[in-house]
Amino acid sequence: MVTHAQRVAMKGVPAFRLNCSRGFATLCALNVADHWSFGDPASMVIVMKKGSSREDLARVVRAVEALGFRPHVLPGMERTAVGITGNPGPLDPDVFERLPGVARAIPVSQPFKLASREMKPEDTVVTVGSRAIGGGGLFVIAGPCAVETGEQVLETARLMKLAGADALRGGAFKPRSSPYSFQGLGKEGLSLLAKAREATGLPIVTEAVDQASLELVDEFADVVQIGARNMQNYELLKRVGRLRKPVLLKRGMSATLEDLLLSAEYVLAQGNPNVILCERGIRTFSRHNRYTLDLSVVPASRELSHLPIFVDPSRATGRRERVPAMARAAVAAGADGVMIEVHPSPGEALCDGRQALLPHEAADVIAQLRAIAAIVTRKAEAVR
Ligand code: PEP
Ligand code: MN
Repeated sequence: MVTHAQRVAMKGVPAFRLNCSRGFATLCALNVADHWSFGDPASMVIVMKKGSSREDLARVVRAVEALGFRPHVLPGMERTAVGITGNPGPLDPDVFERLPGVARAIPVSQPFKLASREMKPEDTVVTVGSRAIGGGGLFVIAGPCAVETGEQVLETARLMKLAGADALRGGAFKPRSSPYSFQGLGKEGLSLLAKAREATGLPIVTEAVDQASLELVDEFADVVQIGARNMQNYELLKRVGRLRKPVLLKRGMSATLEDLLLSAEYVLAQGNPNVILCERGIRTFSRHNRYTLDLSVVPASRELSHLPIFVDPSRATGRRERVPAMARAAVAAGADGVMIEVHPSPGEALCDGRQALLPHEAADVIAQLRAIAAIVTRKAEAVR
C-alpha cells in the first residue's frame, strides 16, 4: 500500500487524495495503487551539484530509502547522480530538488530506467582484466565457439594473444538447436579455459545456460555470457544481477532493442552495473546469411543507452568469409567491441566450424579493426 510520505513524493497524487473523504479515501488510494501497478511507472534521476558533499549524497540516498524506493548511486566523471526505482507512480521533483546539493531531479521516460541515457548520460565503462570496455576504446573477444580440447583452446589463446585480442571466448555449456549436437564439456571446459588464461593472461568469456551452470561459470569466468536464447530468462538475469561480474548479454533473435534494454535492466536493477550488450543477428525473411546482422542497432542503442555494445559477426553471418567485412562494418558503426569465433582447424570443429576464422585470418581482421577504431569516435558525445 502507498504510504503518506510516498503519496507526498508522488506528483499530482496528494490533491486527488486530499479531496477524498476518509472512507472514500481508502478506495481512492486502492484505485490509484491498482492503476499504478499496471504499465510503466516513470522513474527519476537526481543529479547532484558539481561541488556537492558526501553528506549531501548520503542525505539524498536516505531520503529515497525513507520513502521505500530504491536509490542507485551513479558516479560520473563530473557529477554524481542517484537513480530511483521501485516507485509505483510518478515522482514530484520538488521533493528532491529541495535537498541540499541537488542540482536537478529529472523524470526518466523510457521503460528501461537504469539502462537509459536519460538516467546516465555518460558511457558506462566496464573493466575486464586490465582493459576497459566502452568509453572510446575497442575491445576484441576471440576464440572458439566451444571448448573441445586443451590443445585447441591453448593454441587459439596463444595465437589470439599474439594477434592483440583482449579476451578469449569459448563455450563450456552450449545451448544447441538440436539435443543431439555437442553440448559442451561443462566443468572440464571451464578448467581448460582457466588454464589458457593462466598461460596467456587473457581474461575468459564463457556462457551460462541456467542457474546451475551460472554457479560454475561464476567460479571461472571473467565475463559471463548470456546467450540469445536466454536473453529473456528473467530468473537467470536476476541471478547474474546479484553477481558483480561483467555480463555479455546477447540480443535474442526476435528481440527488439527495447526488449534487450529491459533485459539489461533486470541485471542493473539487482545492482550489477557491468552489462555489455551484444548484437548477434536477428531472424528476418533473408536467407543468404544465418541471421540478419542488425548493425543499425549500434547507433540506436548508443543513443538510448549508456551501456557498451558489441557485435558478433560470426553468429550472424554463419560463414567465415563474410565475417571480416561485417566485423569491420561493426567497428565503423561505433561498436565498443567485436566477438569473433576462431578455430585452429575449423573443419574438425564440434560446433560452428563454418563460421570460425583461422587464427591467421583473425589476426589480420583484428589489425584492420584497430586501424578502423583509430579513426572512428565512439564516445557518447558523438551520438548526440
Ligand atoms: C555463441 O556465442 O556461441 C552463441 C551460442 O551465441 P548466441 O547466443 O548469440 O546464439
Ligand atoms: Mn557459436
